[in-house]
Amino acid sequence: MPLYESQVLRIYNSLTGKKEIFKPINEGHVGMYVCGPTVYSNVHLGNCRTFMSFDMIFRYLRHLGYKVRYVRNITDAGHLVDDAEDGEDKIAKKARIEKLEPMEVVQRYTLDFHNILEKFNFLPPSIEPTATGHIIEQIEIIKDILAKGYAYEVNGSVYFDVATFNKDHEYGKLSGRKLEDMVANTRELAAQDEKRNPQDFALWKKAEPQHIMRWPSPWGDGFPGWHLECTAMSTKYLGETFDIHGGGMDLKFPHHECEIAQAEASYGQPPVKYWMHANMLTLNGKKMAKSTGNNILPGEIFTGENDILSKAFAPSVVRFFMMQAHYTSILDLSNDALLASEKGFNRLMDAYNALKNLNTGTTSDFNVNEWKQKCYDAMNDDFNTPILIAHLFDAVKHINLIKEGKEQITEVDKTLLLEALNSFVFDILGLEQNAGTSQDTEKLSQVVQLLIDMRKEARDNKDFATSDKIRDQLAEMGIQLKDGKDGTTFSIQ
Ligand SMILES: [Zn+2]
Repeated sequence: MPLYESQVLRIYNSLTGKKEIFKPINEGHVGMYVCGPTVYSNVHLGNCRTFMSFDMIFRYLRHLGYKVRYVRNITDAGHLVDDAEDGEDKIAKKARIEKLEPMEVVQRYTLDFHNILEKFNFLPPSIEPTATGHIIEQIEIIKDILAKGYAYEVNGSVYFDVATFNKDHEYGKLSGRKLEDMVANTRELAAQDEKRNPQDFALWKKAEPQHIMRWPSPWGDGFPGWHLECTAMSTKYLGETFDIHGGGMDLKFPHHECEIAQAEASYGQPPVKYWMHANMLTLNGKKMAKSTGNNILPGEIFTGENDILSKAFAPSVVRFFMMQAHYTSILDLSNDALLASEKGFNRLMDAYNALKNLNTGTTSDFNVNEWKQKCYDAMNDDFNTPILIAHLFDAVKHINLIKEGKEQITEVDKTLLLEALNSFVFDILGLEQNAGTSQDTEKLSQVVQLLIDMRKEARDNKDFATSDKIRDQLAEMGIQLKDGKDGTTFSIQ
């Protein structure tokens, strides 16, 4: 039973184009599936934004008291280059170019993905299944779709028959496309194409002799189509119909449309109650693309090693920056935007820390209960984090006024405010206090630098007792000094 049962959560459903009251299929439980990364290169910052949106959604649903089973897959086979039906498998291609085993490519980039997400303070999903671990389940679904007459086999490959499916169902309902229009807008296929219609998509592809990622099947050696893995894994872990399916806006068509078609063809019912799509991230006003150089890796933001940036930014600052936009809005990343977010993030953390030491009074000039309700109202309105953050800054304003002695707060309200900030800032938005560039850390660095200068003075005066004392006592606190030819540097453990 949700804790805040008097409050109604509304979710924008991409399928209906409306904000709807969230009512899970099984009371108190939520099943959520999010399309994970294809692990053939470093995780894209735009994808991080999508996964971060669903991390926040996962956190909020849990906060409301729901038992959430969150499944986010790893695509380690079947995703073809350019998403075309005849391209090479993305992972197989990378393996060929880098002379690696495909599973070495998968391992390398899965590690990178987890490493980046951990830095961003993501909660791990409940289950993180891989496509290659579910080949048997995928084959079973293909057999079922074939038996029901919505697929056909040609020369060792199996294709989904969109036209036949569309007679009994509605193909294109998620992306708002009509099959007739799609057919009219597609040019004729080359004669050698095996598909009956250009809209048909592969459920199983025959593996050519040189294709290294291959599995046996009733139709010969091959590999599954990309769309099918999500149907197989979501059904296995969440059932034939589940609550929330999420992903990036770019996956709506054809990927999610095909998932709906596969599930309806096989189980006869729509697979998902609420479809949610996160919007994209642009960089300096333009689409991010490796080919144009308008691109940045998440790791480069943490080190500042990219010409686009003037300095490094802590993962929590980037997270705060992303949470300042609604997940359905396009968000533009720039150096200036990150600098502004860093300022805001530090103000928020400073106020949070100041609150703990505030003196309390006999009355409160700030209605904490009313403010807390506004925070919930924002989150209940389709996870509106920018509005929530505006309310958080309203609290910051009051904390600062209390600090200056211009307002008062009672002990009870202070405790309530501290608890609420803990929930919203850390549990729900997923921010972390020790972000590395907060004002406190900066001050600490300045103090250590001062001690380094004093130690140098002592050494210059041959007062080695003092210089050793400074070094040893800092070491005891976990601050290591390192003398080099350009002076002394330090690291904090
Ligand atoms: Zn998917």
